[in-house]
Amino acid sequence: MLLANVFLFRISYIFFKVIVLDECIFCKIVKGEIPCTKLYEDEQVLSFLDIMPASKGHALVIPKNHYATLLDMPHEELKSVTETIQKVAAATMVALPGVEGFNVLQSNNEVAGQVVPHVHFHIIPRHKDDKLNFAWEQGKSEMAELKKYAEIVKGNLK
Ligand code: 5GP
Ligand code: ZN
Repeated sequence: MLLANVFLFRISYIFFKVIVLDECIFCKIVKGEIPCTKLYEDEQVLSFLDIMPASKGHALVIPKNHYATLLDMPHEELKSVTETIQKVAAATMVALPGVEGFNVLQSNNEVAGQVVPHVHFHIIPRHKDDKLNFAWEQGKSEMAELKKYAEIVKGNLK
């Protein structure tokens, strides 16, 4: 009974903070205000298991500072995040039997499927014949059109 009350209080607290006050759920995890299953932590980076995994071992890697998307992140912190992705992915390949590969997935903005507006990378372990599907229908292109588009992008590189 006491445990159930504590659990209910905790859920209501999280609901209030995240839904009512609209606070970032990953910032709350960084601050330890919401629990997570931690895999790795250093000064700049945190990695923990995804609560709704696409496959067993599905991990997230986030910068501790709040940035909405990849484009908002300073290079130095992005470097730490990518080093952690490599570290956690390598450990996952060894730790989980049958894992033969992994996908790294990162979405920016709602239109791309980003739900939590705190930049994060998914590490999704892959098994032979698993039913996960990240495929898209392959389109067609004209060389002239590609060249034209490449020039436009190159003109916007900073
Ligand atoms: P997105 O769709 O934004 O790329 O991914 C957000 C991910 O965060 C989802 O895979 C979701 O399961 C995970 N997630 C959302 N809230 C929590 C949480 O409170 N704890 C953990 N560990 N993962 C969460
Ligand atoms: Zn945040």
